[in-house]
Amino acid sequence: MIEARHAASVVDAQLRVIASGSGGNLSILTLQRRDLPPRHVCIDLGIGPRTLARRLDEHAPDVRLEDVAAVLITHPDGDHLRSTWRRTLESTGWPVFAAPSHHAALATMAAPARLLRPLADGGREVPILADVVTATTALAPHDDHGSTVIRLRVRTTRGDLRIGWATDVGRPTDEMRSLLSDCEVLGVESNYDAELQAASPRPPFLKARITGGHGHLSNAQALDLVRSLATGTTPDRIVLLHLSRECNDIDLVRDLWHGHDPNLAGRTHVAEQDRPIGPFDLLDRRPLAAGV
Ligand SMILES: [Zn+2]
Repeated sequence: MIEARHAASVVDAQLRVIASGSGGNLSILTLQRRDLPPRHVCIDLGIGPRTLARRLDEHAPDVRLEDVAAVLITHPDGDHLRSTWRRTLESTGWPVFAAPSHHAALATMAAPARLLRPLADGGREVPILADVVTATTALAPHDDHGSTVIRLRVRTTRGDLRIGWATDVGRPTDEMRSLLSDCEVLGVESNYDAELQAASPRPPFLKARITGGHGHLSNAQALDLVRSLATGTTPDRIVLLHLSRECNDIDLVRDLWHGHDPNLAGRTHVAEQDRPIGPFDLLDRRPLAAGV
């Protein structure tokens, strides 16, 4: 029995953020079990299959799309599920996990209805990869549909690994905080700098949509959220997601984190729109050599 449990556990887990931002979001969690091919879980498919194939060719040639085992979609916006995926999804049959309230919209975008699976079960864990990965979720405020905050629990040979994912979340909520509270790995959006947003030529309605609690998290909100979750050495990996090209700047993010919490800054990376980052070895518990 012990042998069988061990065989089902992950010996290596890696995270790559292939694209992040309003031009498209796609991350890949790679799980390696002993003596088995790797299995990939995609979080969002917001760049098209050709762009993904090109980026994998260049940056991660060992990641093969035939090893994708599941897809998670945070919410039904075009930068999280691109319409060009329909044919690939039809032919691969990858299960597409999403909040039940998002299914109808996703089916009209690119996800064949027969592949849609519920990414929520009244607070209970949903199996994503048999007995190796489970998910619990909370719906966060974001535009009309809301966005799904995800907590993945991965069974590894070193115990459970918890990965939290919060992107396109209008504001931090208590439900989100409790869902993400014990995650060793966090992906959190850090969309805009408040001053750059206010000074931008964007129309007032757009600024209000983004900053009004149903849009995106500012840099300061992202930092506050992560600091409120941090205890001791947890989380030990943080990736900041979905930076705005127009209203953000990586140096501002860097200064903010180093100014307020150099310790957390040392564990933090910033995802980019056009250049993949990672792989981050999620079972390697040593501090990062260099953070933001
Ligand atoms: Zn988005």
